[in-house]
Amino acid sequence: MAAQGLATGSSGNLSCRIGDLVLITPSGVPYRWLRPHQVVAIDLAGRWVPRAPAPSSEWRMHVSIYRAREDVLAIVHTHSPYATTASLGPRLGVLHDEGKLLFGEEVPVSRPAPPGSWALAEAVVQALGSGKVALIGRHGAVAVGSTLREALLLAVKLEEAAQLAFLAGAMARPSGGNSGSTHP
Ligand code: 13P
Ligand code: ZN
Repeated sequence: MAAQGLATGSSGNLSCRIGDLVLITPSGVPYRWLRPHQVVAIDLAGRWVPRAPAPSSEWRMHVSIYRAREDVLAIVHTHSPYATTASLGPRLGVLHDEGKLLFGEEVPVSRPAPPGSWALAEAVVQALGSGKVALIGRHGAVAVGSTLREALLLAVKLEEAAQLAFLAGAMARPSGGNSGSTHP
């Protein structure tokens, strides 16, 4: 996630489900210092072993998605810059054919809710529906899959779709001075 430019510091989190257990990144550990033994195991109610490191503060969102979606075995949540910018709006229109094949015509945005809350978890489950990606209102992005590799790839592609939408908007705007205009 960090190497792909989707996360700075410790922002975002990811998990995968193995049976009734969820392996999830610990809270607040920058990715460059994160080591395998710091990954936390929780159950689908969010319980973890006492004295283990605290799981991601978004554990409610992760377990809520797993409870709602039997098909989901991995979740990636990012604050990647273009997707997070797109999460300020009502939805992300997908402009290019590859994006449309992956996500359809638009990516939904969940209603804003406090980070780490059950309200955010519910809003994300609702926005995601049966889809693979959603934007978390005023917050970031979430991608799900049957493997971590798939979820990460979708998070990369979602960031790309948001970047293209941003660039398309910038190109459509007159730049004032150097736009190739024939006006004096
Ligand atoms: P954690 O470090 O607790 O996972 O928090 C990061 C984040 O993205 C909160 O929304
Ligand atoms: Zn977040």
